[in-house]
Amino acid sequence: MNTAHIYNQIQSVLEQISNAALAAGRRPEDVDLELAIKTRTTEECEAAARALLDLGRPVLMGQNRVQEAEVTTPFLRGLDLANLTTTMIGPLQTNKINKALRVVDQIETIDSVKLAEAINKRVKDRRLDVMIQVNTSGEASKSGADPREAIEVAKGVAGLDNLHVIGFMTIGAHTPDEVAIRKSFSDLREIRDQALTLPGLEDARELSMGMTSDFALAIAEGATRVRMGSAIFGARK
Ligand SMILES: *Cc1c(COP(=O)(O)O)cnc(C)c1O
Repeated sequence: MNTAHIYNQIQSVLEQISNAALAAGRRPEDVDLELAIKTRTTEECEAAARALLDLGRPVLMGQNRVQEAEVTTPFLRGLDLANLTTTMIGPLQTNKINKALRVVDQIETIDSVKLAEAINKRVKDRRLDVMIQVNTSGEASKSGADPREAIEVAKGVAGLDNLHVIGFMTIGAHTPDEVAIRKSFSDLREIRDQALTLPGLEDARELSMGMTSDFALAIAEGATRVRMGSAIFGARK
């Protein structure tokens, strides 16, 4: 896919994000676009990262697999872009933690205190920004903490010295039913609102939710970060 096309797609998606924010009575700059770059080439990633930078946006690059991040992160870091943040948005296995820590700046997919403890032990010389992933739809195919346990997980993670909880992440319900999709997002918002009142969770304001198919609903429910891939790069092969 060519560079000009990616630039145009990002511009158009940012406009749609902005419109969704305004329609919800929110400020467009309060919703970040995070790129879901799984399966994309380094050239595609570079074009997208430069477009975000040119349009005055933070460069948030989300990978699902450590193995892919080991290719895209060194490449992106080598471009010396201002404002680059690489994130993990896929499930993280314990045996990949050390590798992940070399290539990601944030992990959005903490779903248990046990996983958080394993990461906490391996983080050196920094506090790692993390989000708690919650399985708001209850679908068996999705990872994430049970919504009823999400606050307890967040509290447990907040107690770990090397981790800094910056918010919550979810994947919307897989259904054409907009009411059900919105509920997965409003449930996450309610968990976040409760967390913000608790010690150690004062910074947990991010709501990473919404993808190409449902980002407008997520923004209406308070998303601060939408994760999008196919709207920008086209369908995955
Ligand atoms: C792939 C992916 C996205 C983006 O999906 P699109 O439909 O391509 O926008 C968002 N979040 C996660 C966790 C993903 O794996």
